[in-house]
Amino acid sequence: MKRYLIAASALMLIGCSQTPPSGAGSATPATPAAQTAYTLGSIKKGDKAHCVVCTVKEGNPGEEMVAETLDYQGKTYAFCNEKEKAEFISEPAKYAAK
Ligand SMILES: [Zn+2]
Repeated sequence: MKRYLIAASALMLIGCSQTPPSGAGSATPATPAAQTAYTLGSIKKGDKAHCVVCTVKEGNPGEEMVAETLDYQGKTYAFCNEKEKAEFISEPAKYAAK
């Protein structure tokens, strides 16, 4: 009779114990909206500013020559023409900064 010795080899598993980076969380992608609500009195006719109506309608049209301004809820808004100022006044909630 022969005895067979089965040698079991022990495997030492050395796991990488890396701690996951904490604190990152989920970044909320904020759409960079153009600044359309200006500090009271900081813009006037003839200045360059973002027309709030054009910005809302067209996205971010860039700065335009200010034709009209309006003080609304503690902010000054700029308009590239009279018609858009009237449009803002008729629907301020649509255009005013939230
Ligand atoms: Zn405009």
